[in-house]
Amino acid sequence: MKPDTRLIHHAYQAPGTWEAMPVAVFKGSTVLFRNTAELHRLKARDRSAYTYGLHGTPTTYTLEQRISELEGGSHTVLLPSGLAALALVNLAFLHPGDEVLLPDHIYGNNKELARDFLAPRGITHQVYKSLDLEDLASRIHERTRLIWVEAAGSISLEFPDVCAIVALARQKGVLVALDNTWGSGVAFRPFDLPGGLGVDISMQALTKYASGGADVLMGSVTTRSEALFDILDRTHQCLGFGVGANDAELVLRSLPSVHLRYRAQDESTRRLADHLQAQPWVKQVLHPAMPGSPGHEHWRALCAPEDAGDQASNLQPGRRRHLALQPLQPLQTLKQGGAACLVSAVFDPRYSKAQVHAFVDALKLFRVGYSWAGPQSLAVPYSLRHTREHERPDEHGALVRFAVGLESVQDLIADVDQAAKGLAG
Ligand SMILES: *Cc1c(COP(=O)(O)O)cnc(C)c1O
Repeated sequence: MKPDTRLIHHAYQAPGTWEAMPVAVFKGSTVLFRNTAELHRLKARDRSAYTYGLHGTPTTYTLEQRISELEGGSHTVLLPSGLAALALVNLAFLHPGDEVLLPDHIYGNNKELARDFLAPRGITHQVYKSLDLEDLASRIHERTRLIWVEAAGSISLEFPDVCAIVALARQKGVLVALDNTWGSGVAFRPFDLPGGLGVDISMQALTKYASGGADVLMGSVTTRSEALFDILDRTHQCLGFGVGANDAELVLRSLPSVHLRYRAQDESTRRLADHLQAQPWVKQVLHPAMPGSPGHEHWRALCAPEDAGDQASNLQPGRRRHLALQPLQPLQTLKQGGAACLVSAVFDPRYSKAQVHAFVDALKLFRVGYSWAGPQSLAVPYSLRHTREHERPDEHGALVRFAVGLESVQDLIADVDQAAKGLAG
């Protein structure tokens, strides 16, 4: 053999045992089969073998399983972005003549997909009032195939009654898909809702919490139903929405700390929300844990059901007295519950858009940019008047959404205060 051939057909095989905690990055477009019989026999559909890089590798199968674990589902497919993941759900389950119902506060690109892509293909949609069950019920008819839910909306943070929506959909024989990026499998379990209920499909932008590093784009779609997974997986394969092993590895690296990061960012965000609430330039704070924020009671029922009990059991004086260190309060448990790192402030209407933009530009630690749940805090002014049919929380005052990162919250609060000096007078 010539040197070039020898380099490609090199005989060395590393020994077969390597045990370490990190999941290896398996790469390959081509998968090699021992012979034609194996080529014809092996199937990737049930994840029992490998047939082609696009159809899965040990790295992506492992991440699928871990996302299923996080979500409490049984089957997951991975996609190159959150947007691709929600597109997959629509493409897999909607056929010409079907109708999909979207809450007004849904991630904006889902509405755009419905309007610009699904509508020309004979799939209709309606936008329902995010928190109004009667409004939703009145829109369901015989062509309704799918209802989307988002809890909480990622800009205006309204929290719907997820259980009631699922119960209604079940009664009407309509599928429920949840955009679970906000809860990320930490704030609540979408397949184990109170009352024995569960959504049919949960999708996430893994770009946000699962990644946590603001360095990878990825999406997931999870279900607990064999039949629904079959449809999702077939559609996924038809469309070729695979993910690369290096990207999957980035998510696998971050995933073990997702609960800790969720808690830490939750705690900081609540501190910031409390601070904002006390500022004269803020008309309203939108955060599901803030009493008075739309849907607060639904959030409380689903994501903080044991608040009172926790406090009582943790403050037993007999058990505490001999502890030398003051235990950390908010991170003491890793149970379900909590709220994400997003809080929006509706500014007092006396401030012009230009003043509010100047406030955002004056922030130093909060940078201007999309996405959230990474280490870096972000702030973005949103104008919802043109994208919302029913709910316009910015109608009487500009809205700024803060995405809290992993910086010290004292520094973040000081940053907000220094930027707000420009609002004086
Ligand atoms: C970011 C986001 C998406 C889209 O995810 P990408 O990976 O950015 O495409 C979908 N839904 C919600 C709620 C999001 O925040």
